[in-house]
Amino acid sequence: MQSFDLVRAADRSAAVAAGAASPTAQQGASVRFLAGGTTLVDLMKLGVEHPDRVVDINRLGLADIRKESNGDLLVGATARNSDLAHHPLVRAEYAALSQAILSGASTQLRNAATTAGNLLQRTRCVYFRDPASACNKRRPGSGCPAISGANRMLAILGTSDACIASHPSDMAVAMLAYDAVVHVECVSGGRQIPLAHLYVLPQERPDIETVLAPGDLITHVTLPPPPAGERSVYLKLRDRASYEFALVSAAVAVTLSDGVIKSARFALGGVGTRPWRVGAAERALLGRAPGEALFRKAADICLEGARPQSRNGFKVELAKRCIVHAFKQVTH
Ligand code: SF4
Repeated sequence: MQSFDLVRAADRSAAVAAGAASPTAQQGASVRFLAGGTTLVDLMKLGVEHPDRVVDINRLGLADIRKESNGDLLVGATARNSDLAHHPLVRAEYAALSQAILSGASTQLRNAATTAGNLLQRTRCVYFRDPASACNKRRPGSGCPAISGANRMLAILGTSDACIASHPSDMAVAMLAYDAVVHVECVSGGRQIPLAHLYVLPQERPDIETVLAPGDLITHVTLPPPPAGERSVYLKLRDRASYEFALVSAAVAVTLSDGVIKSARFALGGVGTRPWRVGAAERALLGRAPGEALFRKAADICLEGARPQSRNGFKVELAKRCIVHAFKQVTH
């Protein structure tokens, strides 16, 4: 591991200033905020991440989980995954979020990992995590060995000729379905970014993963109140029952009225280069009586444009079945 400056920020403005003041912050790779460290420290040890400054944000008081006066759920950037998953408000009103978090990693990791860190975790593509391999995400222009190599776990949606890495977060999938908004602070002020607009597709620059600028500090995430009577579920399909990333997952939230679907929100994990949500697929469900054929139609729309790789063609059908099964669970 190469040496780096460690800054323990005492407050938000100090953290933002420390991030912005990094000597090469403008080049986008030299400063990282540290909270749980469950991804960052791993990647630094592997030689994948090599910041010259690490800003510890654990003392900033950003671990709140609470209801706002407007009904939003506020989740602090450093709220631990375990605290969020087990919070009574989350279990009662955002069941798919609780289930998504508990489906990932291990208890020990969830006790350390944080909200913002989970949203910003890096792909598990084996070539990305191996500095001896070429990888356009780690070293732009070096190539993508996954396209002709180990791509069984990788993406079928949102890919490019430069990168096919799947996004690894379960939490982000559920938060996307719940219309989460990410709140950011930087030296020039603050802004809000709908989670749907946080992640960018790889295109020619897979090293650029989000719209965040160097030094942008995520302070919290908000989730609007769910529609009355909404039921939700997170269904995750994987190679083993625990401590495993998704082959395919679906976060589904539905309300029914007079025997028809009044609202439907759903997002997919494990299949996209970012958490995947398709408005047209949701609209196809509205005003219709729930049923397998209808769910299958929505799934077909959601998977339109899927571009399977040599070893993950099975994900297309698996994703459709995952969607159908999740909808059946919340509408039975
Ligand atoms: Fe790198 Fe993306 Fe290719 Fe994996 S899929 S090797 S992360 S460029």
